[in-house]
Amino acid sequence: MSQLSFSSLNLHSDLLENLSTLGYTEMTAIQQESLPPILAGKDVIAQGKTGSGKTAAFGLGLLQKLDVKRFRIQSLVLCPTRELADQVATEIRKLGRGIHNIKVLTLCGGMPFGPQVGSLEHGAHVIVGTPGRIEDHLNRGTLKLDEVNLLVLDEADRMLDMGFQETLDKVIEQIPAQRQTLLFSATFPEQIQKIAKRIMRQPVMAQVASTH
Ligand code: ADP
Ligand code: MG
Repeated sequence: MSQLSFSSLNLHSDLLENLSTLGYTEMTAIQQESLPPILAGKDVIAQGKTGSGKTAAFGLGLLQKLDVKRFRIQSLVLCPTRELADQVATEIRKLGRGIHNIKVLTLCGGMPFGPQVGSLEHGAHVIVGTPGRIEDHLNRGTLKLDEVNLLVLDEADRMLDMGFQETLDKVIEQIPAQRQTLLFSATFPEQIQKIAKRIMRQPVMAQVASTH
């Protein structure tokens, strides 16, 4: 069995089946670096350039960890923009297709509140959203994150560039400290190192050098 193959990991068989349907046969470099510690339950900082396959790295970790029979919000993925949140939700739904009706809900700004509140009342396993709108729902009492055990910050450098630092802090305060935290970023400036120090526990670094 190739070391590059997803089947070298202890993934649920339905995830392996979906990967093969999607044509994902070998892991990308960032997936090889980050998936073993993610699946071991560690906090992980993964840095790799755009297009390196970061979504599937945290998406597979998230789906593997999910207790699908418990219909509660167990994972929160924060993204800088609605477009990125939609892409991430689509990828997670593809990776999780056919597995016990996993419900992935997006909560982004620029969309009306009413339907989001209605969807939240129906419940979800996974929330993917933008920080501002997640904070709004927390403030209105329409979202509770007290059963979240996996937090993902996707494109963390962009979220900080966009001025989301304070909002992120407010949202993260509402998530149990007893959790796994994954941080994905294309770059690793000092601001990211600082936030990682505050919100992560002994993170493993998964870095893939740019070939450019
Ligand atoms: P990033 O978030 O690092 O910018 P994405 O997660 O958006 O990258 O992935 C980029 C593209 O690579 C997507 O089209 C995705 O479907 C594809 N991809 C991800 N992992 C694999 C893999 N192991 N094998 C083949 N294609 C993959
Ligand atoms: Mg990405």
